[in-house]
Amino acid sequence: MPIPFIDLQSQRARLGQPLEDAILKVVRSGAYVMGPEIAQFETALGAFGQAPFVLSCGSGTEALQLPLMAWGIGPGDAVFCPSFTFAATAEVMPLVGASPVFVDILPDTYNLDPAALDRAIEAVKADGELTPKAVIAVDLFGQPADYPAIAAVARKHGLKLIADSAQGFGCTLNGQHPIHWADVATTSFFPAKPLGCYGDGGAVLCKDARLHDILVSLRVHGQAVKSDLEGKTFDHDPKYLNLRIGMNSRMDTIQAAVLLQKLSIFADEIEARNRVAARYAAGLSDVVAVPKVIEGGVSVWAQYTIEVGDRDGLIAHLKGHEIPTAVYYPIPIHRQDVYSAYPAPGGLPVTDAKAGKVMSLPMHPYLTPEDQDAIIAAIRAFAGRNA
Ligand SMILES: *Cc1c(COP(=O)(O)O)cnc(C)c1O
Repeated sequence: MPIPFIDLQSQRARLGQPLEDAILKVVRSGAYVMGPEIAQFETALGAFGQAPFVLSCGSGTEALQLPLMAWGIGPGDAVFCPSFTFAATAEVMPLVGASPVFVDILPDTYNLDPAALDRAIEAVKADGELTPKAVIAVDLFGQPADYPAIAAVARKHGLKLIADSAQGFGCTLNGQHPIHWADVATTSFFPAKPLGCYGDGGAVLCKDARLHDILVSLRVHGQAVKSDLEGKTFDHDPKYLNLRIGMNSRMDTIQAAVLLQKLSIFADEIEARNRVAARYAAGLSDVVAVPKVIEGGVSVWAQYTIEVGDRDGLIAHLKGHEIPTAVYYPIPIHRQDVYSAYPAPGGLPVTDAKAGKVMSLPMHPYLTPEDQDAIIAAIRAFAGRNA
């Protein structure tokens, strides 16, 4: 049987009947939107991710857009982010009328380079066209960005900091989750993410009660929330009092029910992912460039990404052995036509170089040692032939 790139069926089998019962319970309850599982899941996710406030929402993309809306970021504003990421990280800036400003990455972790961030902010300030407002750091491939250094740069310039943890929810640095340093941490529950649901979903984690309230309002068309109504009386149902331009970004109750089940085994799955990563490193580090995790960091290994000289050759060789691979990301965002007009001060030499070299191997908590050894052997055979 071919080895899957990500194996969601083994996880489903492990979760078994309780998972199917949880879904059926929602179907039978009729509470398809904002049912009780939503609040239960938000509480459980906050406990896992060390965040006092959690808002579930429609997707990881909307999780990034909602805080930009809450902070009133819009035309004339600059939001700094890496270009070596999934498009959604940069897409939300034009969606609110603001401009992404692309920043280079560190060559060993693929995450935002704090010194390059500082230079990019200075360049935008000197240029004077855009007003720096926020930074979005990405926990690429599952490992935490250098938050102590990035937060120091953001603070120095008075900017908000978002941790885009769509690939990294559950990762830690010195035992702390990204929200320890960031104003907001976001994640995605797209099925292929380390913590995924059975459709689309996302979450915004924060530490500020008023910000959370505004996010609650924006999630449902800017409707008035409790803190908006304190001390006021209305002669109509304030449910239809719309104080902001919001959107509809509710997560389905069924997805919350699925996620409550998955969250119960997530810590164990992160350990399993780290075992898989360690076996790859032991078997491959002398023949390809294996990933390096930031000192003090624990990755959730959304991807296991290696670098090789002859990438196309290795991909074809593995395909011949029915071993799937993927390239994240072949075209950095600033090289995409629709993003090419946005600033990337000083160019992004590391990003440009990495896009031509990286490739990702099968990675999930249920990869067996036997399958992994077959993958390692195939890569070693290719490397030996090309040595
Ligand atoms: C997947 C992803 C997103 C978007 O999440 P969706 O739920 O698909 O909208 C944002 N940022 C990064 C880094 C991602 O990998």
